[in-house]
Amino acid sequence: MAKVLILSGFAGSGKGTICAIARQKEPRLRLSVSMTTRAPRPGEVNGREYTFVTPEEFRKTVEEDGFLEYAEYSKNCYGTPKKQFFDMMEQGFIPVLEIETRGAEQAMGKMDDCLSVFLSPPSFTVLEKRLRDRGTETEEAVRRRLSEAKEELRRIPRYQYLLVNRDGKAEEAADAILDLLHTGKTDSPALVKDVQAFIDGFLNA
Ligand code: 5GP
Repeated sequence: MAKVLILSGFAGSGKGTICAIARQKEPRLRLSVSMTTRAPRPGEVNGREYTFVTPEEFRKTVEEDGFLEYAEYSKNCYGTPKKQFFDMMEQGFIPVLEIETRGAEQAMGKMDDCLSVFLSPPSFTVLEKRLRDRGTETEEAVRRRLSEAKEELRRIPRYQYLLVNRDGKAEEAADAILDLLHTGKTDSPALVKDVQAFIDGFLNA
C-alpha cells in the first residue's frame, strides 16, 4: 500500500470534496496542511485549511530547507512543511498532499512509495463553470486559474492515474482513489484509460 497520496487537480476540480470523502472512509489518510502566502478566503481558518504566512515567513522557511516541496501558483506561494509530513508518517498515517503539479513533481521525485492521482472535471467548459459558480474569486483570479489549468494539463502524464470527477459523482472518484490505494487497481468509470486522448480533447469538449 502506498505510504503517501499526492492528489492534484485544477482549481475547481472538486479535489477538496473528494479528499474529504476519502478521508472519512480511510481514517489513516491525513491532510497535510500547507503554508501559503495567499490571503484567507471567507470561512478559512488559519491552521486548518492552510497556515497563512507572509512572503518573508515563507522565504525564511525555504532558506531553512523546511519544505518537502513548494511552488508559486497564481502569484502566491504554497509549500508542504517537512516536519509535519514526517511526523504523520512516523505516526502511521498516510499523508495526503493536495498540491499543484509543479510541487507534485518535486514530491514524486523524492518518494518511491507514493500514489499520484490527477483529478479533472470532464471538460474545460465544466471547469470554467465550476470556478465561476464557486464565486470566491474575482474575474481576474478566475482567468489566471484557467490559464494555470492549461499549463497543468501538460503535466498530467507524469501522474500514475487520471480520474474524472463528473458532476454529482464525487463519491465515485473518492472510491476509485481508495481502490487504488488499497489494491493498486480500480475498474471505476472515473478512471481515464487513454490519458493522451483525454488531454487532446479536453479544451475542445
Ligand atoms: P488554492 O489557492 O485554490 O487553495 O490553491 C491553489 C493551488 O495550490 C491548488 O492546486 C492547491 O492544490 C495547491 N496547493 C495547496 N497547497 C500546496 C502546497 O503545499 N504545495 C503546492 N505545490 N501546491 C499547493
